[in-house]
Amino acid sequence: MKYFVLIPDGAADEPQESLGGKSPLEYASIPTLDRLAAQGRVGLTNHVPDSFNPGSEVACMSLLGYDPLIYFTGRAPLEAAAKGITLGPEDWAVRCNLVTIEDEGDGPMMVDFTADHITTAESTELLEAVQEGLASESPDLIGWEFVPGVSYRNLLLFHAKNGGHCELGGDLRTTAPHDRVNQHISDAFPRGTGSRLLTQIMERSETWLKDHPVNRVRKNKGFRIATHVWLWGAGQRPAFETFKSLHGVQGTMITGVDLLRGLAELAGWRCREVEGATGYLDTDYAAKGQAAIDEFSTTDLVCVHVEAPDEAGHEGNASAKVKALEEIDKKIVAPVIEHLEQKASTGEPYRVLVCPDHPTFCSTRMHSRGLVPYIIAGSGVEGVSAQSYDEKAAAVGPTVAQGSTLIGSLFDKAEA
Ligand SMILES: [Zn+2]
Repeated sequence: MKYFVLIPDGAADEPQESLGGKSPLEYASIPTLDRLAAQGRVGLTNHVPDSFNPGSEVACMSLLGYDPLIYFTGRAPLEAAAKGITLGPEDWAVRCNLVTIEDEGDGPMMVDFTADHITTAESTELLEAVQEGLASESPDLIGWEFVPGVSYRNLLLFHAKNGGHCELGGDLRTTAPHDRVNQHISDAFPRGTGSRLLTQIMERSETWLKDHPVNRVRKNKGFRIATHVWLWGAGQRPAFETFKSLHGVQGTMITGVDLLRGLAELAGWRCREVEGATGYLDTDYAAKGQAAIDEFSTTDLVCVHVEAPDEAGHEGNASAKVKALEEIDKKIVAPVIEHLEQKASTGEPYRVLVCPDHPTFCSTRMHSRGLVPYIIAGSGVEGVSAQSYDEKAAAVGPTVAQGSTLIGSLFDKAEA
């Protein structure tokens, strides 16, 4: 049996005035997805437990079958895994943005959570300055390392093996800087065990960064400067069992997004890199479809994640979302299903799961918690089918209350 999983990130949405009262999924011409809906089972599910914000890190973890209530420890450990960094049992990872905070007299505001899309080279130099600043001011803090990533997205790691003591605790709560854009931040600093240390680093970073040559050059060029590091998303390594040990199936992930690479890494999957997979609206859909077909020759399950519908939602652009869905259907789903049907005719059956992680509403330009439509189709799958794949059609079918159980039903022998 071959298994194909498609995650159209943020695809679920509301009816749009600009689309004649239809949702992007209803409006889009997606004949292959509609055909799968007609052949299989269509319903609604939810990947964001009530106690979580609807982030992709939580929702995609659930989609891959890992209950966030059990496994989610923070965003940074997933990003560390994506970089191939293995955290030991006592280690911690903390997300470290370079940000622009300004105070016009009525308190500090988060002006830019990307420090004006600072370059990787600049950000690498600035983090060296922060590392030096920390070492000279707090020489007894051992084991803390700033790890440059891409642009403003970096990590702060704590390595226990160096003999240091980590002050962070499980009750530590932090605020994502992109949730505070153009807002005051005096109440957005970390809380809980270890918050004092993180807050201190964030506050002191201003001194270490302010007059740095990189920032001086940026100012002269008219760019915003990186005034601070912002620390958030802290956590320890999630205790994933491998997907293979849970379901007996080996997987491959195809994505342009680090978070998904990290989840795949932790699940013990292979990550197949695809040239032109940008994690944006201009991603090379056909290259992803072809890569999926190639992967089926060596692996049983292939998961293709496409960020484009989510990006369209964040831009509030319903027609771009429609376009992304049509590209997914035509250039990924159609060729992959054609390939799998051909294989099926020679005796190798297949099953398919299609499901967004969360809705991203064009109206609010934000992720939303709430129900998303799924399709499970393929060999032996029975249940309530629908004439099309969209939110309305799915509302008639069976609701799977706990989204993390959905992927498991792909491997349900009773249906085979
Ligand atoms: Zn998402």
